[in-house]
Amino acid sequence: MTTTDFSDIAACGLFCGNCGSHTRGRCVGCKAGGGMVNNCQIRTCVADKGYVSCGECAELETCEFVNPTGLVPRAMGKVMSLVFRSDKAGNLQYLKEHGPEAFVEYKRQQGKI
Ligand code: SF4
Ligand code: SF4
Repeated sequence: MTTTDFSDIAACGLFCGNCGSHTRGRCVGCKAGGGMVNNCQIRTCVADKGYVSCGECAELETCEFVNPTGLVPRAMGKVMSLVFRSDKAGNLQYLKEHGPEAFVEYKRQQGKI
């Protein structure tokens, strides 16, 4: 049985543990309904499927929520990754290959927790 807390892993691959708003207590984090996107389709989809993140999903590479084709959503994604200092795509790939337990440990080793 795992005792690792996955609550800092955002559904889209951002890591709330990196975010100053979350660590300073101004944001409850993605999983608790925080963040800048009120009706986030990714968060809803991941919750409906019972996943920790999209890293568990077989549709990761083709999902239009995660891989938007429009210029504005793609630009927004880049801005959010910069704001949260988080490599969303890299994080999701790591989560896919190694799972959430190893991801949290990886962040811990980086001093991100
Ligand atoms: S974009 Fe959606 S899934 Fe990602 S951190 Fe914000 S609310 Fe969570
Ligand atoms: S990658 Fe899968 S879990 Fe994530 S938003 Fe797309 S369909 Fe939902």
